[in-house]
Amino acid sequence: MTIALDLPTVLFVLQASYIAGATALAYARYRSADAAGAEIIAFAFLVLAAGAMVASKAEVNSADYARLSLINITLGTLGYALFFIGAMELSRRSPVRPFWIVLLPPVLTLAIGLWTGFHAINWLRATVFNGIAAVTMLTAAWIFHRDGRAEPLPGRRIVTLAIAAAGLVSLVMAVEFSLGQFWPAPVLAFVLILTLMFAIALSVMILTMERAVVKLDRLAHTDMLTGLRNRRSFFATVPTHLEAGDAIVVFDADRFKKLNDSWGHAVGDEVLQAMARALSTHLESGDILARYGGEEFILFLPNTSAPRALAVANTMRAEVEATAIAGVRNTISAGIAISPAGGAPLKQLIKDADAALYEAKAAGRNTVKLSQDVELDMDGEAEVEPAG
Ligand code: GH3
Ligand code: MG
Ligand code: MG
Repeated sequence: MTIALDLPTVLFVLQASYIAGATALAYARYRSADAAGAEIIAFAFLVLAAGAMVASKAEVNSADYARLSLINITLGTLGYALFFIGAMELSRRSPVRPFWIVLLPPVLTLAIGLWTGFHAINWLRATVFNGIAAVTMLTAAWIFHRDGRAEPLPGRRIVTLAIAAAGLVSLVMAVEFSLGQFWPAPVLAFVLILTLMFAIALSVMILTMERAVVKLDRLAHTDMLTGLRNRRSFFATVPTHLEAGDAIVVFDADRFKKLNDSWGHAVGDEVLQAMARALSTHLESGDILARYGGEEFILFLPNTSAPRALAVANTMRAEVEATAIAGVRNTISAGIAISPAGGAPLKQLIKDADAALYEAKAAGRNTVKLSQDVELDMDGEAEVEPAG
């Protein structure tokens, strides 16, 4: 199959694709804060479209060729500078400041053009134009790749690849124009560039969607008051059948209704937040703490022992006791159940821990109790009384 495409047609399609890409990007930004920077890339596409329009005018208007060429390369430089700044913001999720530095490359290009007249020499202008495109695209791709360690989303990888590919095509074009040897033909390179610009716009939208899903997922698994995992997250993370030696601790704030009645619900909320922070201070890797219900918390301790589970729960209880919010002190009680040899269903252990918690309440609160189903290897002591 042979494709016969003349340069003005390709430039026309390039403009159309830039405008379509800009529309998609502007829409992505309008719909989502996760696409911050996409609007700058959209603007970059419009500027590049204007540049392509001027380039096609220059093709048919030889009398005005030099002036139109200078406008073309200035717009192109501005477009790629905007693209770079937009890509940086999209990748780092923070704006580039000061924004006006985006004007430096085009102003410099314009000044050098007016001073040297290099833009009138076709191969030189095309080499510089594609060289600038290559450098900005490849650098933007590298930044996207580097920032990907903090955000390993597939959409980011596609954006990185699309920008890198566009940069490489520009690099090949820069080399071609500088050597005066054209394989692949510039028309083919333009078609590749416009396809890749579409790919960039599309993959930015994919990345934006993935970011939104990550955010929703986090929201769905986080307790809004305390920032801890919620019940849903706890059950999604902890195995439904626990191994021998795994422990479940259920915490319940003491006399919380009274605290609310005396100090108000807002103070109650603050105390719950402080409790969550206090409970979190002694977590080790693998431990999973969640807000289980209103003033209840649940803790999964993998592969532990009764003495260690008791010690951990008691340290957490003491930490809560030591915490005061706006002069309000509160205590917490806990019940512990340890998975026996052969393991046990999570639901069963929660039930046992709950029963132990009721014992702790009955014993006067601010106490940790171990489920009676567990045989202790600790001097026959079945409970740890609070220190002090
Ligand atoms: P006990 O020592 O026996 O556990 O007594 P309690 O008062 O803590 O137990 P109860 O279950 O009777 O009351 C729990 C209270 O916790 C009732 C409810 O108003 C309060 N509570 C639950 N969720 C929240 C919350 O998100 N914020 C606030 N401020 N209070 C809450
Ligand atoms: Mg309760
Ligand atoms: Mg309570």
